[in-house]
Amino acid sequence: MIDIQCLGSSSAGNAYRITDGQTALLLEAGFPYKAIQRALQFHMSEIAGCLITHEHGDHSRAAADIMRAGIPVYTSRGTAEALKLSGHRLRPVTALETFTVGSWTILPFGVEHDAAEPLGFLLADQDGDKLVFLTDSYY
Ligand SMILES: [Zn+2]
Repeated sequence: MIDIQCLGSSSAGNAYRITDGQTALLLEAGFPYKAIQRALQFHMSEIAGCLITHEHGDHSRAAADIMRAGIPVYTSRGTAEALKLSGHRLRPVTALETFTVGSWTILPFGVEHDAAEPLGFLLADQDGDKLVFLTDSYY
């Protein structure tokens, strides 16, 4: 079963914590890092990775801090460049190339948005439960 916790979703900022009971992920990092830490009750070490759809601040604000905290950030090369992210915590992903984070299998796909290389994500856990994460898209 997929559990979704919304840490906030508005133009002020977007971030969700999802878990399948084995691996917890952060979807977006659109708040100041301290606000995300507080919303997660400082359980940052449980987060196996952070997926970011595109570079707009309400989706990516804490990206660099998340990486500094030791959490890998998965995003497109275009988004990483727009955010000037680099380093070994950066995991560039490509549309339609599946990757895994812990128990999750994730398929990024291209979306239409006025950003460098925006992605949506299709996430599947090992029970075959699926979640589509799509935000700020024209479709
Ligand atoms: Zn946007």
